[in-house]
Amino acid sequence: MIRPATALGVAASTAAVAGWVTPALLRARVLRAAVCPGLAGVGRPDSVALTFDDGPDPQGTPAVLDALDRLGWTATFFMLGGQVARYPEVAATVVAAGHEVAVHGFSHRNHLVRGLADVHRDVARAAAAVTAATGVRPTSFRPPYGVLTMGSLIAARHAGLRPVLWTAWGRDWEARSAQRVAGTIGRQLRPGGTVLLHDSDCVAQVAGSWRATVAALPRLAELADQLGCTVGPLRDHGNHAQAGSES
Ligand SMILES: [Zn+2]
Repeated sequence: MIRPATALGVAASTAAVAGWVTPALLRARVLRAAVCPGLAGVGRPDSVALTFDDGPDPQGTPAVLDALDRLGWTATFFMLGGQVARYPEVAATVVAAGHEVAVHGFSHRNHLVRGLADVHRDVARAAAAVTAATGVRPTSFRPPYGVLTMGSLIAARHAGLRPVLWTAWGRDWEARSAQRVAGTIGRQLRPGGTVLLHDSDCVAQVAGSWRATVAALPRLAELADQLGCTVGPLRDHGNHAQAGSES
């Protein structure tokens, strides 16, 4: 159910972004941060937003929640609907611990190889799964692999979700050490940035990759201190308010 009027509405409301949205361009991290900061996850200059994708996971998510508790941080969890359906009680613990939930799609498939109706169904189904398991209606969306297509934008709008990517990642899905994860983040992170990590290894290249993620969090605390930033969820980051017409 993709109405042309809605597609036009998305194009208009995403302003200049929609005219040139291509996955290749949006995957250029530095460029998207400069041209469409709200979408990239650029927010208040005294803030770093911390986000986790691919959960919930019965092992990784509790370990991440414990680490966040020790640091006194809250974060945003972009959940896979399929994982939520398998582990609804883990999804519920994320909200119970005070964190923000968001949508990463139902299955972890690149939107480039899916039809409009398929993407639309997937995002709506994922949002419904997150809401059912947590009792909270999510407001943000990040597509699998960060590949945001026009179909992604339309599906997100229909589900009442704003797309948010990231400005710095830890490549923790392939990393075997906290040093490597923290070093990768450190080379990219700037004040106002959004960090992408993973609380699940369900699509990672390294089994138990979340262990390096968890171990890297204290180093992220040092990085944030050096930047003069607090660490928190996207809901406190101000990225869409700053982005104005783009969201
Ligand atoms: Zn993912």
